[in-house]
Amino acid sequence: MIVICEAKATEEQINSVRQKIQSAGLEVHRSDGAEYTVIGVVGDIKRLDSGALQTMPGVREIVRVTSPYKLASREFHPEDTVVRVGENCQVGGTDVAVMAGPCAVEDDEQIEACAEYVAASGAQILRGGAYKPRSSPYSFQGLEEEGLKKMRLAADRHGLAVVTEVMSSEQIATVAEYADLLQVGARNMQNYQLLKDLGRAGKPVLLKRGMSATIQEWLMSAEYILNAGNPDVVLCERGIRTFETATRNTLDLSAIPVIKQMSHLPIIADPSHGVGIRRYVAPMARAAIAAGADGVIIEVHPNPDKALSDGPQSLTFDEFSLLMNRCRIIATTIGRRLGKH
Ligand code: PEP
Ligand code: MN
Repeated sequence: MIVICEAKATEEQINSVRQKIQSAGLEVHRSDGAEYTVIGVVGDIKRLDSGALQTMPGVREIVRVTSPYKLASREFHPEDTVVRVGENCQVGGTDVAVMAGPCAVEDDEQIEACAEYVAASGAQILRGGAYKPRSSPYSFQGLEEEGLKKMRLAADRHGLAVVTEVMSSEQIATVAEYADLLQVGARNMQNYQLLKDLGRAGKPVLLKRGMSATIQEWLMSAEYILNAGNPDVVLCERGIRTFETATRNTLDLSAIPVIKQMSHLPIIADPSHGVGIRRYVAPMARAAIAAGADGVIIEVHPNPDKALSDGPQSLTFDEFSLLMNRCRIIATTIGRRLGKH
């Protein structure tokens, strides 16, 4: 349930409403918009006398939230959420954030070359897996903490923030020591224990869409993180499994405007995993920005043919900088600013 306060409601009136709700044992989430203050109520609303609440001074309207997610819903929080990542980057608002780097951190030279190049092309966040969820146990599994160290050093040398995957609750403390944005991979979107523990991680979370997850299930997963106390969640559309085999996944670009309608959380697109084939990555990145994405995350590699993971979908440096120049034009055309500025 949400309580929409009158535009002219006084602080005192808003506080009385809050106290009334809290005294019934329910939780209050306040959101101050440009026009109205909205008070979200979480808990068993049967315990609340909504008739009495409705007539309190300063109350304009009471609305029942019908979606099973509350904190993630647009109704609860009408304004867009903007998530700060590291010192100089924000995801959401008018900015379009750029995250780029290799699928996996491989060695010092590789991550340094990537950091140098993506920073020079306007990216703000360096991506790279140190704990890799691979389909085969015989594939490269990542450099683990060594990889995190290498990535942090390379990012710091070039003024970048770091996004990297955390695969289990036991890894959170270590990953949070090096990263600015903690990535939940598609395979872990419904690992509810991990989501709850990330609610207490003290760092923003990038929540990828599960490969067979509906938008509602995805928002329910975001709800776990928000409900556990972490308001800084960024969603990432990374493609879903469909009957189509021409691409690795089907990048669901319609999820971008749908999420914008249903939720206040920022959403970025991952065209690399979305299509899985290098030549299709750039057109889908451009389309994602045109569709309203708050950012993109893109795999690049100094020598994609030699990459230890996801080489076929990784862009070369030249392809990446050309893409950035085109994306910048698209962002400007729709009144946004792309990357570092
Ligand atoms: C990745 O970003 O490298 C990754 C493994 O992504 P996903 O979880 O979307 O497959
Ligand atoms: Mn990858």
